[in-house]
Amino acid sequence: MKRRQFIRNSAIAAGSTTALAACSQATNSSSENTTSSLPNVRWRMATSWPNSLDTIYGGAETIAKRVEAMTGGKFTIETYQAGEIVPALQVLDAVQSGTVECGHTASYYYIGKNPALAFGTTVPFGLTAQQQNAWLYYGGGLEAMQKIYADFNVINFPAGNSGAQMGGWFNQEINALSDLNGLKMRIPGLGGKVMSRLGVNVQNIGGGEIYLALERGAIDAAEWIGPYDDQKLGLHEAADFYYYPGWWEPGPTFDLQVSRSAWDKLPKAYQETLKAAAMEANLNMPAQYNALNGKALKELQQKGTKLRAYSTEIMQAAQKAAFEIYEENASEDATFKEIYEQWKDFRDQVSDWNQINELSFSRFISQNSV
Ligand code: CA
Repeated sequence: MKRRQFIRNSAIAAGSTTALAACSQATNSSSENTTSSLPNVRWRMATSWPNSLDTIYGGAETIAKRVEAMTGGKFTIETYQAGEIVPALQVLDAVQSGTVECGHTASYYYIGKNPALAFGTTVPFGLTAQQQNAWLYYGGGLEAMQKIYADFNVINFPAGNSGAQMGGWFNQEINALSDLNGLKMRIPGLGGKVMSRLGVNVQNIGGGEIYLALERGAIDAAEWIGPYDDQKLGLHEAADFYYYPGWWEPGPTFDLQVSRSAWDKLPKAYQETLKAAAMEANLNMPAQYNALNGKALKELQQKGTKLRAYSTEIMQAAQKAAFEIYEENASEDATFKEIYEQWKDFRDQVSDWNQINELSFSRFISQNSV
């Protein structure tokens, strides 16, 4: 009995030794995959953000810090604020031309180049942050966006999300749809197009100028991001009424854009590191926003901000106008049509599921305090 056990244990030990030997051999033979033999790589990242937007600019910094730490300082990425290398809305151009190896921006800034790029960030009455991730990673979304970006010699990865934004600051209450008529509002992008169809006089004003325009009455309303960022701009001192939800940006994704030729030159280990760092930023930013916004909203209310919900009449008219715009785009652009139809099916399905699981739970919690 003892002898048999001894023989068996020896056999296992011998087997383990062989396995270990094979393992160490494998490690030695793939020495090109160890950090010590990897090259020094120095990249520059242009962004669309001022560094005062610490949460969104923080997405770029998360990527740079993680890549440097995981490669023992061999692969470094220097991040730049909007305007330092290129203006905020020209990051894609800079990555495409190779002026910089990569960028941190939002695909919806480039809908002039391809209207379907809107879906890569967010569209009015689109997906929440969680739904957007589901669509991008498991619903064919990222594949569709990467196909478009390939035309620009760029590969993209989701790298941040603000979560659902707020519906903006108003110097008066708006209840009926007719209250929007002639109202001067700062609201860019597709949200602005929808508002325009509802009678709003849409203004394009940079983030840094919103406070003064609203405070001086040059505009009647303005949207920015959410409680944390809006409070930093002082928007609560320029208007009393804070509307929700930000139906035009229910969960905007920010992108890491990488020059395809720079990407192809990276060792595989660095490519994987960069992908993991982008995914970290994509997880970290919404978590950070969710924590900061809840606190900031309380502070704003203590300072006298009056919270108001958009009326059902306005929301329904806005949703109708938004989908009319998508249908029009689809009839003019085959790529848009293909992505839109696939996206819409996904939206219907994931909305039904989230209605059952997450939203029924949230509704109960909000209506039943302990
Ligand atoms: Ca916004």
